[in-house]
Amino acid sequence: MELSDYSVVRSILTKHGFTFSKALGQNFLIDPTVCPRMAEACGAENAVGVLEIGPGIGVLTKELSQVAKKVVAVELDTRLPEVLAETLADCGNVTIVPGDILALDLPTLLQEQFGDGPVAVCANLPYYITSPVIMRLLESDLPFETITVMVQKEVADRLCAAPGTKAAGAITVCVDYYAKAQQLFSVPKSAFLPSPKVDSAVIRLKKRAAPPAAVKDKAAFFRLVKAAFAQRRKTALNSISNTLGTDKAKVAAALETCGIAPDARSETLTTAQFAALLDALS
Ligand code: SAM
Repeated sequence: MELSDYSVVRSILTKHGFTFSKALGQNFLIDPTVCPRMAEACGAENAVGVLEIGPGIGVLTKELSQVAKKVVAVELDTRLPEVLAETLADCGNVTIVPGDILALDLPTLLQEQFGDGPVAVCANLPYYITSPVIMRLLESDLPFETITVMVQKEVADRLCAAPGTKAAGAITVCVDYYAKAQQLFSVPKSAFLPSPKVDSAVIRLKKRAAPPAAVKDKAAFFRLVKAAFAQRRKTALNSISNTLGTDKAKVAAALETCGIAPDARSETLTTAQFAALLDALS
């Protein structure tokens, strides 16, 4: 069964009376070239298995099952396991786990399904939760060595920007703390059913062995980074002091201690500079 073929997808969906849920970010891939590339790029060969988020009707799951020892796919839509039982009937190494990726007990799931070994993540993410999912995976301290995901093109550009450059945002620095991000290839909106409003891109995050700078209090670090970008048109000084309610003179002194210009904008600061700034403020 060719799950990226438009007419096959249509007939499966009609057979099961399935209608797309916008709220669940359901845009299914119908371009046959995309899933094999994602499966090849996700590093399954170096992992005990692959965790997929949101299998839909299983187009990527099927490709993953061919390159991975084991695939565990978490799906929130309770209508889909029945469809997947049919579309993935030949894939003996796939387990569908019903649930919300943001709410599931991930440590227990990973332990039960994969033991302690390294796990690769590969997914065409539901776009309404891209950043929370990525941050949850990175913050979890679980053995996700690589995270290969499809996201909106503009989010990919932001995530993969170098910190300290114009395209960077709070999420760039937060992700950079944990992983090296790389944009692999773009995917046009025509590759999906239904077609979304924007183009997409596949990115790969490779977990770092150690963060680019030592940070004593991670929660305070992420609070500072988010505050710095909260008022993007303002200087880092104003955005941080306005958002955190910290005395302006104190923030100015900390910037000076770190050798950062008083009128610097947050997008010009590197991850290491944010770490130094936190130290100076503490
Ligand atoms: N992998 C399929 C593909 O590429 O055609 C479907 C991708 S579609 C963009 C996103 C999938 O994530 C849908 O199947 C949707 O039901 C599922 N989903 C949405 N929110 C979810 C959540 N919180 N946890 C797990 N799956 C979710």
